[in-house]
Amino acid sequence: MKKTIAVVAGDGIGPEIVSEALKVLKKVETKFGHEFVIEERLVGGAAYDTAGECLPMETLETCKKADAVLLGAVGGPKYDALPGPKRPEKALLGLRSGLGLFCNLRPATVWAPLKESSPLKSEIIGEGLDILVVRELTGGVYFGEHKRADDGQSASDIMAYSIPEIERIAKMAFEAAMKRGKKVTSVDKANVLETSRLWRETVNKVALDYPEVTLEHMYVDNAAMQLVRAPQKFDVLLTENMFGDILSDEASQITGSIGMLPSASLRLDGFGMYEPIHGSAPDIAGKGIANPIATILSVAMMLKYSFGLENEAKSIENAVLSVLESGARTADLGGTLSCSEITSLILAAL
Ligand code: NAD
Repeated sequence: MKKTIAVVAGDGIGPEIVSEALKVLKKVETKFGHEFVIEERLVGGAAYDTAGECLPMETLETCKKADAVLLGAVGGPKYDALPGPKRPEKALLGLRSGLGLFCNLRPATVWAPLKESSPLKSEIIGEGLDILVVRELTGGVYFGEHKRADDGQSASDIMAYSIPEIERIAKMAFEAAMKRGKKVTSVDKANVLETSRLWRETVNKVALDYPEVTLEHMYVDNAAMQLVRAPQKFDVLLTENMFGDILSDEASQITGSIGMLPSASLRLDGFGMYEPIHGSAPDIAGKGIANPIATILSVAMMLKYSFGLENEAKSIENAVLSVLESGARTADLGGTLSCSEITSLILAAL
């Protein structure tokens, strides 16, 4: 298979972790006989320094033409004084909207060898946790009208969803569930919100096309509780934009290790942008000690979700698992290995 991948490493630890992840991609390329063409472009503060803007048109165009995008991280103290629209973080929103990425996938995985990193008790974690949060990314209250009354005494934010918007994200959740534990928990507040009642009705209709998948509905307040009380009961968690923003952060924290968590933002046609959930970590940038695993697992998600290369993705995940089982750890996990040393072990396991 031949695919073009736009690579935007960004700032801080971005270039360090991305170059390690590309070594893993290269290894998969030779091991499985694929051809991955890499197109590297600037984004974030790095782009601002050379082009005067954080998302140059050339970067966006390269991403649009590619089959998938791999992103490191953007931002840093050097750019904190820039006005809002010029800030590196704006590049992320520009990429997501410019590429039409409406579906955010965030796996929250507690790897068995890292159980002790979770703030939850080990009997709650069991043998490990594997939850996939599927969050709607371009609708709901974040994209409704935000208004302050003329007298400044009241404000409103409109929360709106259409049936097609709900259908397409629900389909993504069911498709993902088919490749996993075949269970979808759809989160809403249908006892109060009309958008949630439409959400629930629409999800029920989409579910008819997936008879093998068990569907349950859960109010968002209960979902927030169950995530820390009985997270084992979740497989795929389907949510609208704001609930998903909050719940995906909660889910990521129960894993206890920010350097381990990948994410994907997708379109219906399978095109996606893949990135670790963490930021540019300016406090450790340039020291070579960042954990590259979140970015390496983002590459695995790219192979799985954009290219349909399930075996290749699994081989990366298995390599990461075996390296963790061997006790190898970067500093964020209490170890001493550098960014490139842990990657070398993963390459060897591959
Ligand atoms: P951060 O995620 O960059 O760092 C938080 C803490 O986690 C730091 O102590 C950092 O050293 C550590 N950490 C993060 N990733 C790590 C890794 N791979 N290995 C080891 N340790 C890791 O969050 P922050 O400090 O709040 O933000 C720093 C900058 O990143 C800010 O400019 C922020 O706006 C930006 N940011 C960017 C993104 C993104 O690009 N998607 C996301 C969040 C924050």
